[in-house]
Amino acid sequence: MTTDTSRAELDAVVVGAGFSGMYMLHRLRDLLGLSVRVFEAGDDVGGTWYWNRYPGARCDSESYLYCFSFDEDLAQEWSWSGKYPEQPEILRYLNHVADRFDLRPDIRFGTRVTAAHFREDLNRWEIESDQGDRVLARYFITAIGCLSAGQVPNIEGLDGFEGDWYHTGAWPHEGVDFAGKRVGVVGTGSSGVQAIPVIAEQAGHVTVFQRTPQYMIPARHGTVTREFLEEAKRNYNEIFEKRRWTQSGFPFDPSERSALEVDDEERRAIYEAAWEQGGFRFLSATFSDIALDRRANDTAAEFVRSKIRDTVRDPETAEKLVPRDHPFASKRTLIDTNYYETYNRENVTLVDIRHDPIEEITASGIRTRDGDHDLDIIVFATGYDAMTGPFTRIDIRGRGGAVLKEKWAEGPKTYLGLVSAGFPNMFMITGPGSPSVLSNMPVSIEQHVEWISDLVGHMLASGLEVAEAAAEAEAEWVDHVNEVASKTLYLLADSWYLGANIPGKPRVFMPYAGGVGNYRKRCDEVAAAGYEGFVLRGGESVAAR
Ligand code: NAP
Repeated sequence: MTTDTSRAELDAVVVGAGFSGMYMLHRLRDLLGLSVRVFEAGDDVGGTWYWNRYPGARCDSESYLYCFSFDEDLAQEWSWSGKYPEQPEILRYLNHVADRFDLRPDIRFGTRVTAAHFREDLNRWEIESDQGDRVLARYFITAIGCLSAGQVPNIEGLDGFEGDWYHTGAWPHEGVDFAGKRVGVVGTGSSGVQAIPVIAEQAGHVTVFQRTPQYMIPARHGTVTREFLEEAKRNYNEIFEKRRWTQSGFPFDPSERSALEVDDEERRAIYEAAWEQGGFRFLSATFSDIALDRRANDTAAEFVRSKIRDTVRDPETAEKLVPRDHPFASKRTLIDTNYYETYNRENVTLVDIRHDPIEEITASGIRTRDGDHDLDIIVFATGYDAMTGPFTRIDIRGRGGAVLKEKWAEGPKTYLGLVSAGFPNMFMITGPGSPSVLSNMPVSIEQHVEWISDLVGHMLASGLEVAEAAAEAEAEWVDHVNEVASKTLYLLADSWYLGANIPGKPRVFMPYAGGVGNYRKRCDEVAAAGYEGFVLRGGESVAAR
């Protein structure tokens, strides 16, 4: 089945060899018997975990939950070492998956897909790469991740900087030697807060350039033991099934109480217990309305603020770190290890660039309004053109030469985050309009991969050639995604969920906030109703459903 030619005709092309692309290849090739080529820009498997090798890179989802569930033997034979897996451990896991299912022969590494055009005359996608490939495929499947288009801010002078600079999402494989160096870190999102404490332990001095203070929950890495992980394994079937039907893909029992129905003392005790346990449980296990009700949210926000003040010894630095301009959890909640404590070190300085803005990068460092910061290394932990960026960087054209980037110019338009009208047989794994980044990713990835391969299997069995979203179904879904988001507090923050981190990007809430379980139910219903909302065409018959 493996083909070597760069001009092959294939059943399916999959872009990306992270969690999504690897599992998609396995399903299509090994279950449906299709010819599949995966194109991967990196030189090996891993996706996010191939690129993000910055110091301290670790997953915020707990290890026993951040893994595949589709193969019981795979789940049982792999043992995680602790509560949160570090990047090298996840990469080892994904390499193990690649070997176990013999995936590499069908992955073309070091190859970036540059264009994908739907050929209406052939009902095929014509796909081109930067390595000169031009292949035809019936199915074009994007497994390109939601956070893979790195964003380095356009600050004047970077070209003339005489030191070294890096983006966290494209970290050198050989690592970076920070010993004795003066390091500037721009950005305090998930990547920055993981990297800063580790860099501070190695560097001569670290200057953090912070735009928006964030709320963080401690990780408490040490709170999970080997015994716990072994016990979890024994209960995997139950755990995995439960995580499929929850709000965020974690099998935690959500609290049903409002933060406003208990008195101050009890509320504080509940927050304290969750704070001691650490991690995302703080969001669900405390109160039911933190993400929905501003007054309830304020109680959680104030609790975190008090923790910052308790931890950071210098009151002026503490106040700079206290978030005030957005509700708790309205941006991606950050899970930290020693982040606030790091500001008690002698070799760490915080620059609040809202009040002391960056003016330019000079040959020797970063100049802010109030002075020069001499640096040997700048680390940009400045995030991504999230969710749509990975798509708009590929020249994707559907029926009539319609350009996806233009169709999405005012925000992504999809049906279920899986398909976009006018782009037949193009399927998106964790595309915009699906729970994706609001969930434990492997859960959403497995659900999409399985749903897509079921649809492809249905098409093969029924002699159908083409599946695409009906325009009305898509419009309804886009409205639904917006309506659900409007009932949350997400819209009150300038987050990458809304594209607010990218100058000029339309302010549209991109993921689906209705919950993993509800979403899965909806997708299942669509399939059970004969792929309601899709237009399916095959041979002479045309079935509009
Ligand atoms: P991010 O959350 O978008 O954070 C980027 C940071 O850079 C923010 O502090 C942002 O400030 C700042 N920034 C952006 N542009 C800037 C500019 N022009 N000047 C100054 N500061 C600027 O990016 P990230 O930390 O890479 O994380 C992205 C997402 O990846 C996370 O939310 C998470 O979903 C995922 N991730 C997960 C993990 C994990 O599981 N442990 C680790 C890393 C990343 P503003 O807040 O003001 O925009």
